[in-house]
Amino acid sequence: MSEQNAVDIAIVGGGLVGTPLAIMLAQLGWSVALLEKEARGNAVAGTRGFTALSDASVVTLSASGLWEQASLDACAIREVHVSHKGYFGSTRINSQEHAVNALGYVVDNAHFINSFQPALDASTVQCLDGASVERVEYASSQALIHYSRAGQKQALTCRLVIAVDGVSSSLRDAAGISTQHTDYDQVGVLGVVHLSQPHQHIAYERFTPSGPLALLPRPDNSASFVYCISPDMQDQLQALNDAAFVQSLQAAFGHRLGKFTQVGKRVFVPLVRIEAAQQVSQRLVLLGNAMRLLHPVAGQGYNLAMRDVEQLVGSLSDTQADPGNADALQAFAQSRLSDHKQVVRMTDLLARTFRGKASLPAHARALGLLGLDRITPLRARFTEHSMGHVK
Ligand SMILES: Cc1cc2nc3c(=O)[nH]c(=O)nc-3n(C[C@H](O)[C@H](O)[C@H](O)COP(=O)(O)OP(=O)(O)OC[C@H]3O[C@@H](n4cnc5c(N)ncnc54)[C@H](O)[C@@H]3O)c2cc1C
Repeated sequence: MSEQNAVDIAIVGGGLVGTPLAIMLAQLGWSVALLEKEARGNAVAGTRGFTALSDASVVTLSASGLWEQASLDACAIREVHVSHKGYFGSTRINSQEHAVNALGYVVDNAHFINSFQPALDASTVQCLDGASVERVEYASSQALIHYSRAGQKQALTCRLVIAVDGVSSSLRDAAGISTQHTDYDQVGVLGVVHLSQPHQHIAYERFTPSGPLALLPRPDNSASFVYCISPDMQDQLQALNDAAFVQSLQAAFGHRLGKFTQVGKRVFVPLVRIEAAQQVSQRLVLLGNAMRLLHPVAGQGYNLAMRDVEQLVGSLSDTQADPGNADALQAFAQSRLSDHKQVVRMTDLLARTFRGKASLPAHARALGLLGLDRITPLRARFTEHSMGHVK
């Protein structure tokens, strides 16, 4: 084993959550190591596809100087349009009503993660790319991380480990934290369509008989889509060529955005919710997908994780204190419970209530949707969640 290294905080996982977190903690004055098993520049697990960032996530990134670079490729969402196929009526939520420039922004995950690189290079973060964490020993005053890098076994001591190592988190499992799996019995089809008419910065959420279909605006007048289908449709949709798939997507969405002219490669993913039973344990915090994988219907996974990041960074503002103090970690976890519960409840409601196979009669579902417009407090809550201004 080569020479041992020591830092205050070790972040395991240099993905969409771990990377900005490392920069923010280093800005506070902590010595931080960021261990990422992939080599620099290689696509990381969560980078395929697009993310709708809430206004609150943008505020958090801006405060750390991380938004300017990311914004170069971002597309503003100025309106959200929610509708139900086959039923009259829709809900529109727009930025003017809420006196903001945008309700959120859509970013391409691959560009988004690359946008952090200049700030990472300029920071004091010790970047251990190609470092795969194999085992962690937790003790009362520190943790010892064993990892392999370039074929060598190495170790690192720290006072706090933050596991942001994705949905299959080996750190979570090794710490004995169990997970609960909820299968939505749906498959998400992800891709990009090109449009015959300008999207005018409108994001669409359409509830179809097979499940929700979201279209998010992109800068080049295309839209990224997440189309939730029942598993028995997967083989049929996977067999379609581009032209036939465009037709099928158009039939599900309608013509609000004009004609879909072209579609890129499609990716099919099973839709599940995977939740860790607890967010902290001895000298360990779970964040991002390691803590919770959500159904993508409400675009909340990353935004919820960034609210965790904001709160955690706030609770670690005193660099003289022990960053792994058990009481402080428990207080952090406790402070995040209510937001986590509300987001899970809202996401489940959207994923299940408006599905074709839901037990509610279809017309009641349509009314439920219209209700978002009529019942002001519910609609306001929906908007506040979408913008991320919920604590
Ligand atoms: C279809 C879809 C659409 C979505 N849309 C939205 C949206 O619109 N809005 C939103 O808020 N959220 C959205 N999400 C959620 C969002 O993608 C996730 O919240 C985000 O990717 C989580 O990032 P992460 O950093 O936790 O994990 P990841 O991005 O998965 O990163 C984990 C990192 O850990 C590394 N790693 C793993 N194991 C080890 C190890 N042993 N040692 C070292 N490194 C390791 C991996 O290589 C990887 O780089 C969506 C999710 C899906 C599936």
